[in-house]
Amino acid sequence: MEKIRNNAKFLKKILEKKGISIFAITKLVLGDPRIAKTIVDADIEYIGDSRINNIIKMREAGIKAKFILIRNPAVSEIKQVIKFTDMSLNSELKVIRMLSEEAKRQNKQHCIILMLEMGDLREGIMPDKLDSIFKETLKLEGVELLGIGTNLKCFAGVIPDDTNMMEFSNIAENIQNQFGIKLKFISGGNSANYNWVMSSKNIGIINNLRLGTAILMGLESIKDSPIAELEQDIFTLVGEIIQLDKKPKTPKGKFKTNAFGEPSIFKNKKIRGKGFRTQALLNIGRQDILETGLVPIADIQILGASSDYLIIDVKNNKFKVGDKIKFNMSYESVLRAMTSPFIEKRYVNE
Ligand SMILES: *Cc1c(COP(=O)(O)O)cnc(C)c1O
Repeated sequence: MEKIRNNAKFLKKILEKKGISIFAITKLVLGDPRIAKTIVDADIEYIGDSRINNIIKMREAGIKAKFILIRNPAVSEIKQVIKFTDMSLNSELKVIRMLSEEAKRQNKQHCIILMLEMGDLREGIMPDKLDSIFKETLKLEGVELLGIGTNLKCFAGVIPDDTNMMEFSNIAENIQNQFGIKLKFISGGNSANYNWVMSSKNIGIINNLRLGTAILMGLESIKDSPIAELEQDIFTLVGEIIQLDKKPKTPKGKFKTNAFGEPSIFKNKKIRGKGFRTQALLNIGRQDILETGLVPIADIQILGASSDYLIIDVKNNKFKVGDKIKFNMSYESVLRAMTSPFIEKRYVNE
């Protein structure tokens, strides 16, 4: 928890110098209220999450922040979005109209950030439609247009660079001039924008980033490389050995695919062999993690996972049944572990 707080503090300080505000994104941790509190304690004002239920959970836990729904609202959740969030990222005019209607009904003012498609082909208005949607959103009651944003490196994998970021910044500047207004948020992207923001000589009028990975894992998200000033290995997964035995290095009988229809790992000749290996089963599986995203701290080898077991070669370690085995985790493994009801969450150095 201390590492998360330090990361949030550092990012706030260094980005403030560049005129950039932060929306801290908590979707990786299922909107965990204790983690959200830690981030708010680092003086971050805005919390964003992709799931309305996570936002409701944090609000009900008394987290004092402004909440932003960062996934485009679904028609079926409009009521909750108006009731429980302060702002949402949007790219469907139809939905924005419904947000306006519902905000009037609930006697609320809901803030809107219009998302712009800049090449990654996920959420976002095509640039040629921005003018008309911008114009209509400005006119709607119950909603306030507070900014425009874009998101790269999530679907197609497009990398933020001077070209696409300046193009985005110019579009933002033009639309501000055209309508004679100044937007509060020109939200340039996510943790994949970190290196660009820190190294670019000109970040245009971009004044906001939405950061999850950087705060919670200390990584920029182009290559998942560590940000030098930040702390990494914040999440540790602990599994327990529930079976430990010497087993043959080669399966008996014909083998083809595993429980998930993937080729058996024993098709790999390096895994197969003569003799025996000491093999352990741990009480975690694909329902809880992605085994390819686990990095064991001890010198062991992960052989694979089914829904409920993780199968490891313990190599030369002297383990026994009941021993706890620790792993560092990739983004995707943390996402699943935090989502799994079977993984007990323990908070250290809160
Ligand atoms: C997940 C997400 C983010 C945060 O991404 P990180 O790379 O984890 O910082 C920002 N914006 C949107 C729209 C997202 O969906």
